[in-house]
Amino acid sequence: METAPAPTAESQAQTAESRRPAAESQSLWASRRLYLPTIVIAGLAAWLSYHGWTALAQTGVARSFDAGRYNLAGPVVLGFVLTVCVLEQVFPAQRRPLLARGHLLDFCYAVFYALLVIPLVVLLGAGFSGLLARLAPWLVLPRASGVPGWCFVGLAVLGIDAVDWLTHLANHRLTALWRLHAVHHSQEELSILTTYRAHPLVHVSFLLSAVPVLAVADNTATPAVVLTAYACLGALPHANVRWTYGKLGRIFISPAYHRIHHSATGRLDINLGTVFAIWDVLSRRALFPAPDKDKNTVIETGLSGRPIPVEQAGPRPRLGRTMLTQLAEPFISTRTETR
Ligand SMILES: [Zn+2]
Ligand SMILES: [Zn+2]
Repeated sequence: METAPAPTAESQAQTAESRRPAAESQSLWASRRLYLPTIVIAGLAAWLSYHGWTALAQTGVARSFDAGRYNLAGPVVLGFVLTVCVLEQVFPAQRRPLLARGHLLDFCYAVFYALLVIPLVVLLGAGFSGLLARLAPWLVLPRASGVPGWCFVGLAVLGIDAVDWLTHLANHRLTALWRLHAVHHSQEELSILTTYRAHPLVHVSFLLSAVPVLAVADNTATPAVVLTAYACLGALPHANVRWTYGKLGRIFISPAYHRIHHSATGRLDINLGTVFAIWDVLSRRALFPAPDKDKNTVIETGLSGRPIPVEQAGPRPRLGRTMLTQLAEPFISTRTETR
């Protein structure tokens, strides 16, 4: 384990200089061939969604969408996000207006998430879980009558976090997945809303987190409140605050810790955890924030060189156009595909 080096003014200036203007980055679109891996992932998503729709048709697809929205974007999550938005204004890591371009586009992503991405996640989850139950019934742990249900809930949460960590690592190591994950990393004005800045197809890669839930299914049903709490704890590390959580930051992912993962210095395979830091520590990929000595230094975030268009480039934010371009970008073959 190491501690993060404090970024110097010089290194920040270099990072800023290395960001090319949007016009130049858009020249990467010169070759407009389709990128086959993204097409395949989209096809897989359509196939799983069809099976999910069929599976949910008996109980009611709309009701499942409502339940998904309630758990992942209901009053609890909404209240949590709004509270953190206020705290970001009071204790900002990087002071910026509430209506900064990054906040506005991430808000658009949050609305997109609530309206369309959650239904997609519900369909994908139902399709994938049905497939798992049919093809790999051995994944379900046998019934253990003497063990309290909460032990299995804890096991499921740890399992989800471990699988999310592995998937996140794959998102950074495999270019086909990175093309989708890069949308999340393109944010130069990190905030709690950046949680929702994600390409919808990236959720295909995170489907394996259904395995731990299925594994404990014969012993306990993972309560929705636990999944909501996990969603909130997973969102908090994006907050634009300096919190390190002190000693608890060695166990839980803090905003200062996750900010290092979003560092503009490169495609970093460190600090990959969602809620718990243990997987990073065990794999020696944990880079803990240094004790905060200088309140004026802050790690720049985003993608150096702006390989995909961002709202901060250009005289006007063009939110709709930027978002559509970011969502379309992984479908286009470019010379940025090599690592
Ligand atoms: Zn990442
Ligand atoms: Zn993130």
